[in-house]
Amino acid sequence: MEKILQVKDLHVSFKTYGGEVKAVRGVSFDLHKGETLAIVGESGCGKSVTSQSIMRLIPEPPGRIAGGEIIYKDKDLIKLKEPELRKIRGAYISMIFQDPMTALNPTLTIGDQITEGIRQHEDISRDEAKQKAIEMLALVGIPNPEIRLKQYPHQFSGGMRQRIVIAMALVCEPDVLIADEPTTALDVTIQAQILELFRDIQKKIGVSIILITHDLGVVAQVADRIAVMYAGKIVELGSRREIFYQPQHPYTKGLLQSVPRLDMVKGDLIPIPGTPPDLFAPPVGCAFSARCPFAMEVCSRVYPFQYHVSDQHQVDCWLQDERARKLVSTF
Ligand code: SF4
Ligand code: MG
Repeated sequence: MEKILQVKDLHVSFKTYGGEVKAVRGVSFDLHKGETLAIVGESGCGKSVTSQSIMRLIPEPPGRIAGGEIIYKDKDLIKLKEPELRKIRGAYISMIFQDPMTALNPTLTIGDQITEGIRQHEDISRDEAKQKAIEMLALVGIPNPEIRLKQYPHQFSGGMRQRIVIAMALVCEPDVLIADEPTTALDVTIQAQILELFRDIQKKIGVSIILITHDLGVVAQVADRIAVMYAGKIVELGSRREIFYQPQHPYTKGLLQSVPRLDMVKGDLIPIPGTPPDLFAPPVGCAFSARCPFAMEVCSRVYPFQYHVSDQHQVDCWLQDERARKLVSTF
């Protein structure tokens, strides 16, 4: 499987009055060509910070990439200077956010915004750029693109605006699209249409997608692989099938149990008791130990090794280790 992007041991912190928050604490993953990798977890787990670090969009300061590498085309994005990053952003790696309005300029027509985006990265005429914009709008399902090109963002519905944002993000045919909660602001029917659109476009242009979400329903529909984040670390990573049908980490199991399903009666939802740890002073051991029903003595004292359940399924949990119950005396 061709690796399009590699994140290696990424650490990101934020300075606050209360001290330094260690938001991302050693995250590593590969993104394969043409796949959708979902990063899931509760709010504050570090999933958005991870994705913003890839685009180098962390405000520095107060943020700081404290360590690690982000390898794209043999370059470490962490080491690049702003002018080089600007060439990569949008053209090779692009990003869409939850609220389409933040990505659109209300004072410019859709056509001007899309063609401007193209002309920043490609040396083509205004007419060629316009033609590309029309094709891209058609691809994301905007009817009558020639006419709609002349309209302003407020003349579109929320779902249509998100389609336009997707068109803008994809018009330069990037290798990687990072989508942070792309459907959270939309109602359920529109959400389903947008997810369908992601799948179609991926088939057509082969883009690799990193999908950030707290919504496991969304993940079930589009993800090829799933990374589960907790307290700044990936605690489990596997194929969609492995994560949904053979989850190994107690936190993943908890997340899956807390998802409402259509066949569930009211009251079936099982929230995970407790709250995530304080990331000013993260626990030395497993960060889930205070909430984990299976916690052993070793768990809060020593961070678990990474265990491989299959070729592509990994989990950081002492339950995988037969020696765990006896380990405390040895450490
Ligand atoms: Fe629970 Fe221990 Fe596994 Fe952490 S390492 S999830 S505390 S069993
Ligand atoms: Mg977020």
